[in-house]
Amino acid sequence: MMYGGGGGGWHWGMNRPYRSDEQQPKVEFTAAGVRRVLSYLVPYWPHEIVILVCVLAVTGLGLIPPLLMRSVIDDAIPGKDFGLLNLLVFGMVALPFLSGLISVLQSYLNALVGQRIVYDLRKQLFRHMQRMSLRFFTKTRSGEIISRINNDVAGVQSVIAGTLISIITNFFTVVGTTVVLFVMNWQLALIALVVTPAFVLPTRRVGRYRRQVSRETQEKQADLSAFLHEMMNISGYLLMRTFSGEQRADTRFRSIGRDLLRLNIKQAMVGRWFFMFLGLFASIGPAAIYWYGGRQVMQEELSIGTIIAFVMFLRNLYGPSSQLANIYVDVQGAMALFDRIFGYLDMEPEIFDTPDAREVATVQGRISFDDVWFRYNDEAAWALAGITFTAEPGEMIALVGPSGAGKTTLTYLIPRLYDPVNGQVRLDDYDLRDLQYLSLMRHVGVVTQEPFLFHTSLRENLLYANPEATEADVIEAAKAAQIHDFIMGLPEQYETVVGERGFRLSGGEKQRVAIARVFLKNPRIIILDEATSSLDSQSEELIQQALSALLQGRTSFVIAHRLSTVRAADRILVLDEGRAVESGTHEELLAQGGLYAKLHSIQFRTEPESVAAEVGEGGPRMPPLGRGRRPGGRAIPGFEGSGPFAGGEPE
Ligand code: ADP
Repeated sequence: MMYGGGGGGWHWGMNRPYRSDEQQPKVEFTAAGVRRVLSYLVPYWPHEIVILVCVLAVTGLGLIPPLLMRSVIDDAIPGKDFGLLNLLVFGMVALPFLSGLISVLQSYLNALVGQRIVYDLRKQLFRHMQRMSLRFFTKTRSGEIISRINNDVAGVQSVIAGTLISIITNFFTVVGTTVVLFVMNWQLALIALVVTPAFVLPTRRVGRYRRQVSRETQEKQADLSAFLHEMMNISGYLLMRTFSGEQRADTRFRSIGRDLLRLNIKQAMVGRWFFMFLGLFASIGPAAIYWYGGRQVMQEELSIGTIIAFVMFLRNLYGPSSQLANIYVDVQGAMALFDRIFGYLDMEPEIFDTPDAREVATVQGRISFDDVWFRYNDEAAWALAGITFTAEPGEMIALVGPSGAGKTTLTYLIPRLYDPVNGQVRLDDYDLRDLQYLSLMRHVGVVTQEPFLFHTSLRENLLYANPEATEADVIEAAKAAQIHDFIMGLPEQYETVVGERGFRLSGGEKQRVAIARVFLKNPRIIILDEATSSLDSQSEELIQQALSALLQGRTSFVIAHRLSTVRAADRILVLDEGRAVESGTHEELLAQGGLYAKLHSIQFRTEPESVAAEVGEGGPRMPPLGRGRRPGGRAIPGFEGSGPFAGGEPE
C-alpha cells in the first residue's frame, strides 16, 4: 500500500523511538496516495469551487497590468492622449485593489477549508486511537501519539491552504501568461520559455532530500514531545529528583535539542542553493528579451511597449514556475506528514465488533475460560497456557500466584483488552468476540491498583461511570464505598477538584473513589486488583467494607494480595507460569500442600506472628472481604490486611 500503510513492519517500526534512516519505509508518491489526500477535500467542494473562481479571477486580473503598461507606452504617450492615460493609470491602481479584495475572500476560504480538514483528520485520528488496543499503548510512547495528533495534523493545514492553492494559482498563471506571450510575439515567447526547464528539472532530487529531512525533523519533534511528556509530569519529575536524574535528563534534552536545531537548520537550508540558481536563471530571461527584442525594435518590427510588457510578464512566468518547482518540493515534505498520519490511521484495531455482533442486554454473569492460550507477541512465552475454568454468577474468584504468573493477563481478557490467541472466553454462553464491545463493557467494572482520576471535581470523576446518575445515586454510591463522609469533610465537598493538579487524595481514598465509580456503573462482573501497599488500619477497614459491599452478588475476579480476600473467595485459582495449577477453597488448597500452601507458608513465616501480636492487642479487626457466606470467610486475627499475600511479590 502507498504511504507505507500496509506492511506490519511500518506499524511496529514506528514504535522504535530512534530508528535509523535505513529502517524507514520507502514512501511512494503514487496516484492512489494523492487520491487519498484529495479525498479529504471532497466534502468541501462548494467552498473549493468559490476558491477556484477567486483564483481564476486573481490570475486573470494579474495578466492585465503589463498590457496597460504597453498601452501607456505605445498609445497614450505617443498619441498625447490624456484621457486614455488617466484611464490606464486608474486601471493600474484599481485592478490590484480588486484582486486584493478577492484574495481576502480566498484567504478566508482557504483557512476555513484547511482548518476543517485538520479538524476532520484529528477527529478521525483520535477516534482511531481510542479503538486501538492496550497493546498499542503499551508499545507506543504517549508523547509520540500526542505529537502526531497535534503537530503532524496541524501541518496539513499549510499543505491544503498553502501548497495546494499555490499549485492551482501558479499553474493558471503560467498557462495564462504563456498564452498571452505567444499571442503578443511568438519569437520572444519562445526565448522566454527556453529558460523555463532549468527551473523544473533538478527539483526531483531536491524534493527527495527535503522530504527525508522533513520526516527526520518530525520524528525528532515527536521524540522531544515524548521526552517532555515523560519528564514534565509528577511521576517523571519525582523519579528524576529522587534518583538525581537532573544531569542525565539535561544531557538527553540537550542531545534531542541539538539534533532538532541541526535538523531545523538543515530543513531551512535544503534546496537553497538550488533556489539561488533559479534566481540566476530568472535574470537571464529579461536580458535575452531586451537583447533580441531591442534588435527588433531597432528594426521597427516591434514596439517598445511590447518589450516592456514582455519583461513584466516574465515575472508572471518565472516567479510562478519557480514556485511550482518549489511546491513540488513542499508537496514532497507534506507527503512525509501524510505518511505519518496515514501510518496511524492504517493500523488495524485488534478488538472490533464483527458485523453480526450481539448486543448484551442483561447477563447472568457466568464467565468461562475454555482452554485459553495467550501471549503478548509471537516470540513471547505463553502468559496464559490452557486456562479452563468457570466462574458461576455471583462467585468470587481469587487469583493467586507468584509475580508474572499471568494473573493480570487473565483479568485483561475479560474486558477484552486483549483477545485469546487460542480458546474462548465466554460470558454466559457467548464468546466475548461475538458480543458488541460497548455493550459487554456495560457489564464489566474494573478497579485497578492505582486508580486514575481526571483533573476535575470529584462529582465529575464519579459521574464518568454513569453520566446519567442522579445526585442521590452519586451520594449513595459514595456512601457504599465509604468515601461520602470523607468527601463531605473537604472544603468544597463534591466540587473539590482532584487529579493531576487538584486536591491530593491518599491511595486509600483514591481507591474508594474508584470503588464508588464502579458502584455507579453497577456492572455484573467486577475485576479488582487489590492494592499491594499496606494502608493504615482505618483506611484498610473502610476499603474492606466498601469492597465487600461492591462484590456482593456480583461475579468477581480479585487479584488477591491479602489473606482476608482469599479466605473470603468462593474459589482460589492458583496460577503459575500461565497455568492454572490449583483451584479450590483456602482450606482445600492448604490441605493439598501444593503451591498455594507454599505461598501461604512464606507469608506466615515472614508476617503473621508479629501482625497477630499487634492486632491481637486490641487493634481493629478487619472484616473479611466478600459476602461472608463461607465458613472460610471468618476473620482470623492477624491475617487480614497484612501486606502482599504472595510473599515478596514486587508489583
Ligand atoms: P502477574 O499479574 O501474575 O504478575 P502478568 O499477567 O502481569 O503477571 O504477566 C504474565 C507474563 O506476561 C509475565 O511474564 C510478563 O512479563 C508478561 N507480560 C505482561 N505484560 C506484557 C506486555 N505488555 N508485553 C509483553 N509481555 C508482557
